[in-house]
Amino acid sequence: MSKDVVIIGAGAAGLMTAAWAGQQKRESGRRVILLDGAKKLGAKILVAGGGRCNVTHHQVDAAAFAGGSRNAIKKILRRFDVAQTTDFFKQHGVQLKREETGKLFPVTDQARTVLDALLGAVTQAGGEILHPRRVSAVTQEKDGRFLIQGDWGQMRAEKIVLATGGKSIPKSGSDGYGYRLAQGLGHSLTEPIFPALVPLTLHKDHFLCQLRGITLPAQFDLWSSSQKRLQTFANSTLLTHFGLSGPAVLDMSRYYLAAKAADTQTTLTVNWIPRMTPEQFDQALLSLGKKQPISLLRAHLPERMARALLEQSGISDGPLTRVLRKKLVSLVTRYPLPLSGDRGYNYAEVTAGGVPLTEINLKTMESRICPNLFFAGEICNVDGRIGGFNFQWAWSSGYVAGISL
Ligand SMILES: Cc1cc2nc3c(=O)[nH]c(=O)nc-3n(C[C@H](O)[C@H](O)[C@H](O)COP(=O)(O)OP(=O)(O)OC[C@H]3O[C@@H](n4cnc5c(N)ncnc54)[C@H](O)[C@@H]3O)c2cc1C
Repeated sequence: MSKDVVIIGAGAAGLMTAAWAGQQKRESGRRVILLDGAKKLGAKILVAGGGRCNVTHHQVDAAAFAGGSRNAIKKILRRFDVAQTTDFFKQHGVQLKREETGKLFPVTDQARTVLDALLGAVTQAGGEILHPRRVSAVTQEKDGRFLIQGDWGQMRAEKIVLATGGKSIPKSGSDGYGYRLAQGLGHSLTEPIFPALVPLTLHKDHFLCQLRGITLPAQFDLWSSSQKRLQTFANSTLLTHFGLSGPAVLDMSRYYLAAKAADTQTTLTVNWIPRMTPEQFDQALLSLGKKQPISLLRAHLPERMARALLEQSGISDGPLTRVLRKKLVSLVTRYPLPLSGDRGYNYAEVTAGGVPLTEINLKTMESRICPNLFFAGEICNVDGRIGGFNFQWAWSSGYVAGISL
C-alpha cells in the first residue's frame, strides 16, 4: 500500500493536521491517512477541562508557553489564532463560549462535541482514520519515501507527520514512543524531558498532607539560590494526602522542576494569605494588641489551616515573642516548601521538552533534518499554562503542518 500522507497520532494535533491536509490533498486527488495506536480515539480531548474541554483561551500570548523561544512559538500561534480557532469549530458545529477566567469551552459543556467536530472535519476533508494501529518503526527508504511499520503490517508514505504527543497519561497511548521515532529519523530531543502541569508532592508525614481537602487561594514564588525571584503564580490551591495541587501549583510545576534540575538550591515558597506581603502580615500581628494571633489567622484562613500553622510555629497562649512572630510570618507568608518531587506522567497534563523548535522549519512545521517529515502538537518542545493554551498549540501547529503538506 502506498499513501501520500500518513499522520501518526490522531489526537488534537493530528486531527487538526488531517482536517487541513485533507482539504488540500483532496483537490489534487491524493489521500491522507491517520494512524493511531488507541482503541478509542481522542482520550485526552474527552478528559480535558474536567470533561468539558477547555479548547483555548480568549487571549493567547506566547508568554503563556515555555520550551522553545517566545519568538518561535509566536510564529506558529499567529498563523492560526483564537479567532480562526473559534471559526473553525463554529464551521464544524461547535459554538465556543468564554468564561470569566478567559477560558473558552463548547457551549454544550461536553468535550465529546469537540472530538466529534474534529472527526467530522477529517471525514469531510477526505481523511481516513485507521486504529488501533500503533506504529513501532519508521524508516526513510532510498527513494525518500517512508516505510511505516507496526504489528498490523506496513505502509509507505511520501510525507509523514509525527503528532504522537508527549508522555503524559501513558495509558492514553501517548507514552513517549513518538520521541524515539523522531530520534530514529535523525532528530535530537531537549534535555531533560519532564512532566509539566503536574501536582507536587511532600513527604506523607508533612503537616500540610494532614490538611487534605482544604482549598484556598495561595501565592507561590520560585527563588534561585541567590534569592532572585524567578516566577510567581497565585491561584486556587488544593491540599491533598500527597501534597499540593490546583492551578497555581500545576502552572508552577514545570518552572520548579526545571529550576531544581539546574540548581538544587532553588526554593519554592508559599504565601497562604496572598493579599498580604510578609511585611504586612508582620505588621498585622504587631497591631493585634491583646488579641491572640489565631484571630488574625482565622480571618483569612480556614479554621483547620489556621490552627495547624499556629501549632507548627510553636505559639501557645503565652506572649508572642519576636522569634515566634517571625516564625509565624515565615510559615504563613513565605514558607519554603520541602517538596519531595512530583506525581509523574500518570498525573501530568503535559510534557515539557521534546523535539527542539530549532530543528523545525516554522513556516511549514517540516523537519530541517529529514525532508518530508512534519511535526505537530505536544511532541514539540512547547508546553503551555493551564487555560486552553496547550490545545491552542495543537490547533495552530496542526494547521501550519496541514496546509503545508
Ligand atoms: C487530564 C488532562 C486534561 C487536559 N486538559 C486540557 C485542557 O482543558 N485544555 C488544554 O489546552 N489542554 C489540556 N490538556 C493538554 C492537552 O490534552 C494536550 O496538550 C493535547 O492533547 C496534545 O495534543 P497532541 O495531539 O499533540 O497529543 P495527544 O493528545 O497526546 O495525542 C497523541 C496521539 O498519538 C497516539 N500515539 C502515540 N504514539 C503512537 C504510536 N507509536 N503509534 C500510533 N499512535 C500513537 C496516541 O494514541 C494519541 O492518540 C489536558 C491534558 C490532560 C492529560
